[in-house]
Amino acid sequence: MKVGVLALQGAVAEHIRSIERAGAEGVAVKLPEQLSELDGLIIPGGESTTIGKLMRKYGFIEAIRAFAAQGHPVFGTCAGLIVMAKEIEGGEEPHLALMDIQVSRNAFGRQRESFETDLDVKGLTQPLRAVFIRAPLITAVGDQVDVLSTYKEEIVTARQGHLLVSSFHPELTDDCSLHAYFLEMIKSKAGAV
Ligand code: GLN
Repeated sequence: MKVGVLALQGAVAEHIRSIERAGAEGVAVKLPEQLSELDGLIIPGGESTTIGKLMRKYGFIEAIRAFAAQGHPVFGTCAGLIVMAKEIEGGEEPHLALMDIQVSRNAFGRQRESFETDLDVKGLTQPLRAVFIRAPLITAVGDQVDVLSTYKEEIVTARQGHLLVSSFHPELTDDCSLHAYFLEMIKSKAGAV
């Protein structure tokens, strides 16, 4: 099984390491043509406006939308979550507009820039160590979206069929269980459209 990590900006090497720990092959994706050889795609954290601009520049918007429309699982973490959302608070244009969620960028901003916590995530057997860095929050979800975890009653992990998002960075610890969960989504192709 081959999982790509969009390598335009952000935490690419760490995601590849976590995918490999979880038992699949991880590849850095720099060109849209590479998607045809992948079983799933991770969109990493970084800065969503920059990632969105680079995605437009290199033709990734249509390519990733087509990849997801074929039923291939896509996992967005932090800025990756923001670029997958159908709605970004504050009137910003959405990027991929794949998932029926509304997000608020830098939602922890003023209180705490970055922090770590243990989260209970639906579908995982052990609490997950989650690293939040200028993280977004999911402020509303559509009917098809399953909330997998919350932090202080705010939604921080969610799934819609073959689409998965987390507000935090699951690739910055040695715990690869959320990557393993994503690999299971690929294996079962649940929610394929
Ligand atoms: N704050 C960033 C944004 O709005 C996301 C931060 C991250 O990916 N760690 O794009």
